[in-house]
Amino acid sequence: MNRTITSETLKHIDRRITIFGWIHSKRSHGAVTFFDLRDRWGLIQVVLNKETFNAQDLKSESVIQVSGRIVKRPEKLVNPNIATGTIELQAETLKLISQAETPPFELDRSTLDIDEELRLTYRYLDLRSERMTRNLILRHKIVSFLRQFLNERDFIEVETPNLTKGTPEGAREFIVPARLHPGKFYVLPQSPQQYKQLLMVAGIDRYYQLARCFRDEDQRGDRQSEHTQLDIEMAFIDQEDILALIEEMLTALIEKKFPEKKLSKKPWPRLTYREAIEKYQTDKPDLRSNLNDPNELAFAFITDFPLFGVDAKGDITAEHHPFCMPNPNDVSLLDQDPLKVRARAYDMICNGFELASGSIRIHEPNLQKKVLQILKLNDQDIETRFGHILKAFRYGTPPHGGIAPGIDRLTMILADEANIREVMAFPKTGDVREPMTGAPTQLPEKMLEEAHIRVETKNLRT
Ligand code: ASP
Repeated sequence: MNRTITSETLKHIDRRITIFGWIHSKRSHGAVTFFDLRDRWGLIQVVLNKETFNAQDLKSESVIQVSGRIVKRPEKLVNPNIATGTIELQAETLKLISQAETPPFELDRSTLDIDEELRLTYRYLDLRSERMTRNLILRHKIVSFLRQFLNERDFIEVETPNLTKGTPEGAREFIVPARLHPGKFYVLPQSPQQYKQLLMVAGIDRYYQLARCFRDEDQRGDRQSEHTQLDIEMAFIDQEDILALIEEMLTALIEKKFPEKKLSKKPWPRLTYREAIEKYQTDKPDLRSNLNDPNELAFAFITDFPLFGVDAKGDITAEHHPFCMPNPNDVSLLDQDPLKVRARAYDMICNGFELASGSIRIHEPNLQKKVLQILKLNDQDIETRFGHILKAFRYGTPPHGGIAPGIDRLTMILADEANIREVMAFPKTGDVREPMTGAPTQLPEKMLEEAHIRVETKNLRT
C-alpha cells in the first residue's frame, strides 16, 4: 500500500502523497473545511475545498484515506503546536473507510479527568488520545532498551510457564482447574522465582524474562492483579554484581532516553533496612532533595532485609520469600533467634516507591530445608511443596541470585503519571474487573462441568 505516515510528510513538500488515519478535529471556514488527520505518529492538517467535497458527512474519529499535495502554509497560519505545523495537505481525493459513531468522550485532549470506568469501557478509544498513545510508546522504548542492555551482556531471555505449582511470595494465588486431572489445580505464578532458580541449576547463568506475575489480592493504589517484571537471575555472582548491574542499567536508561530527568545522587545511596527504618520509619523512603521537581529521580538500594517477619496472626513468615540466603554472620542465630537473622536481600527504591526486590538465594538443600522448617512446615509439606527444588539442588547447584524490577511502576514514574493504570494498555479496575469485556463472567454449565466445578448458587452475585 502506498502510504505516507504523518511524521514523514515534511519530506514531501510540493509532492502528491496518500495518508490514512482518523479525523481528529474538524472546523469550517467559508469555502474550506479543515481537519487534523491523526495517525500513531501525530497530526497533519488537511484542507478540503467545499466545491469538491461534502465535508458534512465526515464525522470525527472516522477512518479515511486522503490523497493530495503537501504545501507550505503561509507564515501567519503556521501552527507551532504540532510537528507538521508548517505544512498542510490539500486534498484531491478522499475515501471514507470506516464511519465512526460519536465517541463517549473527547479524544483530542487528555482523558485524565474522564470517569475511569467509562475510559476502561472504551479503552481502545482512550488509547487513541495523545497522552495514552505516548505512554504506550514510552513503555515500549523502556522495555526495548532494557532488553537490548541485557542482550549485550550475554543474558538469555527464557520463557517460563504460567500454569504452575506456585511460589509462596506472600500473596494469594489465582487458581486454574486442571480439566484432565479432576480435583487438581494449577496456579498462576506470583513470579517465575523457582523456575529462574532451576534455570541456574540448568547452567543458564544469565537469565531474564519480561514476566507477567499474578497476585489475587484486593487491589491497593498502585497494585494490579497482573503486573510485569523484568525478572533477572545470575549464577556465580555476589550481591554487589547484581546491584551494580541494576544501577548501570537504569542509569544508562535515564541518561540515554530521559535526558530531561536527573538522578539525585550518583552512585546511588545504599541504606541497610535497619538504617532506613531508624532514620525514615519506612523501608522505601523518598530521598528526593526537592519533592516539587518532577524531573528528580532518587534511586537507592535498601539492603540487609530481615529473613523472617511476623504476620497479622503472629505467625513467622518469610519477609521476602523463603529462598533468600541468610547472612553468613547470622546463620548461628537461625535456631535461637530467627527474627534477628538478616538476609542477603535487597530492594531498589525510587521516589518513595519500591521498584524491585531481589536476593542472593540459598543453593544448599539442607539450609533450604532448615529455613522451611523454621517457617513451621513439616517434612510432609516440605516434600509436597518444595521437593522438586530440594531435589534439583542435590544435582550440582551454582551460587546464584537475582532481582526483578517492576516495569509498570518504572514506566509510571518515567511517564510522570500518578497511577500504573495510565501506563498499562488494558488494566483492571480497583475491584479487578475489566469493564470493556465484562470479565470476570459466569461460564456455561457445560464448561464448568468439564472443569469439575460446581458453583454454590448462594455465592453468586449478579
Ligand atoms: N521473585 C521476586 C519478586 O517477585 C523477585 C526476586 O527475588 O528476584 O519480588
